[in-house]
Amino acid sequence: MSRRAFVATGVSAGAAVAGVGAFAGSAARAAASGEAAGGALPPAPRAAGRPMPELERPLADSPERRLGWAVVGLGDFALNHMLPALGRTRHCRLTAVVSGNAEKARAVAAAYGVPASGVYSYDDFDRIRDDRTVDVVYVVLPNALHAAWTERAARAGKHVFCEKPMAVTEAECRRMIDACARAGRRLMIAYRAPFEPHNAEAIRMLRAGEAGAIREIVADHGRPLDPEKPADRWRAEAALAGGGSLYDIGIYSLNGARYLTGEDPVEVRATYRKPPGSPGPGGRPIDVEQGIAWTMRFPGGAVAHCTSGYDFQNVKRIQVMAERASLALDPATEYEGNRLIVTRERGREEPKLGESSLQFVGELDEFASAIRENREPRRGTGPEGLHDVRIMQRIYEAARTGRPVEVPPAR
Ligand code: NDP
Repeated sequence: MSRRAFVATGVSAGAAVAGVGAFAGSAARAAASGEAAGGALPPAPRAAGRPMPELERPLADSPERRLGWAVVGLGDFALNHMLPALGRTRHCRLTAVVSGNAEKARAVAAAYGVPASGVYSYDDFDRIRDDRTVDVVYVVLPNALHAAWTERAARAGKHVFCEKPMAVTEAECRRMIDACARAGRRLMIAYRAPFEPHNAEAIRMLRAGEAGAIREIVADHGRPLDPEKPADRWRAEAALAGGGSLYDIGIYSLNGARYLTGEDPVEVRATYRKPPGSPGPGGRPIDVEQGIAWTMRFPGGAVAHCTSGYDFQNVKRIQVMAERASLALDPATEYEGNRLIVTRERGREEPKLGESSLQFVGELDEFASAIRENREPRRGTGPEGLHDVRIMQRIYEAARTGRPVEVPPAR
């Protein structure tokens, strides 16, 4: 009897099924060994439950307990990195998409199981106020749109997770903080790198005093800008980008020096290598700076030397030179494959740490936890984002004037 015919007869008693399994198994064994079937056989192994194994990560929340996220702007970063990461979180789920391209929005919604009622355009976004499936609005728009959309989301009564840089000006950042505070909603700026396992380990080592006092930091971030690509087109326009390579990727050197030292710089000096208006690829002038170098002096005595460029091949590295150890994060802030090499007197070590893509999951779950526990996020608070913008503005001032510029304390 074929298996299908057997099932069709309706024979379903466990013993009968086990017997058939045993028969099939013994027949196969007998055939394989050349024996005749029919001798006494050991009982067939049965599937049986076991206690919960030691879990590498706690179980995720059930779908109805997870916070619902609406993603505003279905561009390169949202689609390639953050939407897949949302699915790996413990506390979050995608419940809405907001886009200026209805066809793309419908396709993305269908792929992620978002119902038609969760598809919004920029024009009908405000009805999200009544959408009880949405707790958090994630703003992944060009930089100059962050402030207005954060305010709009807060007015709709939603918590806001906003991409870096927080906004273009300090005044915009303050408006964002105020809007969320007025609405009684949380705000987090999406700084992923401190959640990246190699960066997190470097932070831990430095805070624990394992490397001694930090003397110097060298941090470089660069990649070629290609204004022909949609995701780079707005980056070449001051009106949408707000700043150049510093706002886009140099911010990782700046924020990295802050989280590695645990301090805020007190003074900056800077030089434009390629100021705004310099020719870009193909000779066309680009609105924003494409190359800038700066130093930051920290109150504990450390100095950070940083560069940021839109005209050299991918570099994303941070090196900390401290009293008793040198920590090289190279790459430091890639989406995947970051490394940490620690050099001490006795030699070099490369600790084996978790995969770098956990940084996305980490920042998303951190915001969800902060909301649940009614506390500020441990990283990426509004004031932290504001202070980076304040420092970047001082770096531009130093580059324009050629003079050192003091940085006022974070407030
Ligand atoms: P993209 O250009 O790929 O996506 C931006 C999306 O914003 C567009 O696809 C579009 O979505 C929407 N949009 C609305 N208005 C405009 C406009 N006037 N011009 C262009 N796009 C518009 O950019 P990215 O995804 O690379 O960057 C988006 C944000 O994310 C930036 O703030 C950037 O700094 C940040 N980012 C952060 C990273 C990180 O590692 N944390 C990495 C990369 C980016 P739609 O078509 O759906 O309307």
